[in-house]
Amino acid sequence: MAPPRSYHCEALTLKKAFIGEADVIVTLYTKERGKVRAIAKGARRSNSRLVGHLEPLTLVSMSLAQGRSLDYVTQVQTIGNLSPLKDDLDAVSKGFYVAELVDGFGSEANANPPLYQLAVETLQYIRDNPTADLPLRFFELHLLEVSGLKPELYRCVECRRALPPGAHRFSPNVGGTLCIDCHPADAHVRALSLRALKVLRLLDRSRLPELPSLSMDKSLAQELQSLLSLTIEYWLDKQIQSNSFMEQLQRESQPEVYR
Ligand SMILES: [Zn+2]
Repeated sequence: MAPPRSYHCEALTLKKAFIGEADVIVTLYTKERGKVRAIAKGARRSNSRLVGHLEPLTLVSMSLAQGRSLDYVTQVQTIGNLSPLKDDLDAVSKGFYVAELVDGFGSEANANPPLYQLAVETLQYIRDNPTADLPLRFFELHLLEVSGLKPELYRCVECRRALPPGAHRFSPNVGGTLCIDCHPADAHVRALSLRALKVLRLLDRSRLPELPSLSMDKSLAQELQSLLSLTIEYWLDKQIQSNSFMEQLQRESQPEVYR
């Protein structure tokens, strides 16, 4: 019998589940192949060389052997230093949110290196700035972009005119911003303030390593968070689980200024 075909990849671990007495199924987002679910045989045993490398939110270099339905992890090594992120409750809750969205938007059929790079850079940024919320808004907007779902932020999606300054509306269903004159039949349309639109455009034009420092009041922070969550959930067609945990943490901390 021919030996199983094997391959090598760089990956971010998203989640794991136990099967049987000793094995683990790990969901990975790989740079080279997109989303992969793989079995790590014996990884629950304390003497396994796979132990410690397959925890969620770990950057790894790994070898896998192709199986009939799922592939098998044969070797794994931690490569990036994301571990400090797991020591901070704020940072780890944000990290799980990023992992959940990568799992939701990532495809098992196609590689998407920009999505991989966005996820890794966002986690590194959160590791170094655990209290800031703006990196998550950046991540949500650019996640839509690398998934081919970027909302229009500069023109009315109905009449295609450039948006004049003032109040506007937004709907994920029609693909972004609407002027005040266009009224498509759409249950998802909501108000969009000028200052929220300005922050979205700023995030659109920014790169994560040079993310501008912004102080936002609670209502602006909530408007952006709810608009992007609505858009993400519209495309995922489900509620995001890790959002409720982050909201609980936010209620307990109640900052005056959001960054
Ligand atoms: Zn219009």
